[in-house]
Amino acid sequence: MSELLNHYADKLSALKSCHNHRQFQALHHRGRFICVNDGKPLLNLASNDYLGIAQDRQLYEEFLDVLHEQHQPFGSSSSRLLTGNFDSFERLEAQMASLFGRPCLLFNSGYHANIGILPAICDAKTVILADKLVHASIIDGMRLAAQNGTKTVRYQHQNFDQLKLLIEKYHADDSVERIVIATESIFSMDGDVTDLVKLVSLKSASQKVMLYVDEAHAIGARGVRGLGCAEGYGVIEQIDFIVGAFGKAMGSVGGYCICHEVLRDYLINTMRPLIFSTALAPVNMAWTAFVLEKIVNMTQARLRLAAMSDQLSQALIAMRLSCPSASQIVPVILGENARTLKAADALKQQGYYVLAVRPPTVPKGQSRLRICLTEAISDDEMAGFIQALQRVVGGGV
Ligand SMILES: *Cc1c(COP(=O)(O)O)cnc(C)c1O
Repeated sequence: MSELLNHYADKLSALKSCHNHRQFQALHHRGRFICVNDGKPLLNLASNDYLGIAQDRQLYEEFLDVLHEQHQPFGSSSSRLLTGNFDSFERLEAQMASLFGRPCLLFNSGYHANIGILPAICDAKTVILADKLVHASIIDGMRLAAQNGTKTVRYQHQNFDQLKLLIEKYHADDSVERIVIATESIFSMDGDVTDLVKLVSLKSASQKVMLYVDEAHAIGARGVRGLGCAEGYGVIEQIDFIVGAFGKAMGSVGGYCICHEVLRDYLINTMRPLIFSTALAPVNMAWTAFVLEKIVNMTQARLRLAAMSDQLSQALIAMRLSCPSASQIVPVILGENARTLKAADALKQQGYYVLAVRPPTVPKGQSRLRICLTEAISDDEMAGFIQALQRVVGGGV
C-alpha cells in the first residue's frame, strides 16, 4: 500500500482496536421486521419510522396511483433558485404554512437545515446558546457559524437555570445584538422532552433572544395534528425557527423551517446548502405532501404510540433502571460497553433488533440500548418484548 493509504489504514486500525469501527450491515426490510446479514427476521425496534408510514405497503400503492395521475419527475436538475423549483415544492410549502399558520421553507434534509440556517443568521454580534446534547448537525452548524465570528456556548442538558444566567449575561453585553437558543424538542439519545413553554418564557426576558428548536423526532409523532411538540405545547407562534426533518415519522426525506416571512426571504438569499445544492426530486415532495395529509389525521396512532412509550418506561422503572424518556425513544442505560453489547445480542437471539449506543455518541459510562418504538407493532408484540427485556436486563446481567 502507498504511504498515503497507509495513513488512513492506520487510523482505521486504531478505530478497530477500540471497538469503534463502523460498517454497513446487509439489511432486508420486511414490514416491521428486519433481517440482518441474512439472519432470521427480527422485530425492528431501531428505526425512526414511528408511525409505520415508511413500511406501509398500502400507502405506497395508493401513492403510486396518485403518480399515475400527476407527472412528478424523479430529479429536479438544479437548485430551486435556478430551474429546480417545481409546483410540488410550492404546494408542500403552502400545505405546511397552512397547517402551522406561518411561512415554511423546505430543504434537502434536516442536516442541511441545521448546517445552513445557523451560519446564515449568525454573525460576530450573535451568541448561540445550545443544549449540551444537541444533534451533530446543530454542532456542525455552530462550527460554521463560529467561522463568521459567532460565539458559541453550550449549557448543561436541560439546565434552564444556567441558561437563564447566560441569557442575562449576554443581554447585558453591548457587543451582543442577538442571542440564539438552540435545542431539540425530543432529544435523540435520552428521549426526554424540552419544556417549550418554559423556554418561551425565558426568551421573553430579552428582546435579543431568538428560539431555534429542532423537532426532527417530534414531527408526525407529537401534537394533535402531528405538527410536533410546538403544537403540543401551544407555542408555534412563539418559536422563531421550528426546524424538522421528513425522514423520520413522515417516512419521506427532506427538512423544513417554519419562521417569519422576513427570515424565510433572508435564508433564500444567504443559506448556502439551499443555494448551492440540487433540490430534492419533485416526486419526494409529492410523497411528503401525500403523507402529511394522512398524518394530520393519525391522532389515535399518536396517542397509542405515547401509551406504548409510557408502558415501556414504566416497565424499565419497575426493573430499577433509570429512564429519562418521555417519548417513543426509550434508552435502557446499562453503563458499560460490554454489558450493553451483550444485552443487544441476547435480544437479537430472542427476535428483537435493538441497537447499542456507546461513547462518543453518549457520555462515557452511559452506554445504552436505544429503543425506538413504532406504532406498527401489536400489543402482543410489545408485551413479548417487555418480557424479553426483563429476561435480558431485568435480573441485572
Ligand atoms: C435526524 C436528525 C437530523 C437530520 O435530519 P436528516 O433529514 O436525517 O438529515 C437533525 N436533527 C435531529 C435532532 C435529528 O435527529
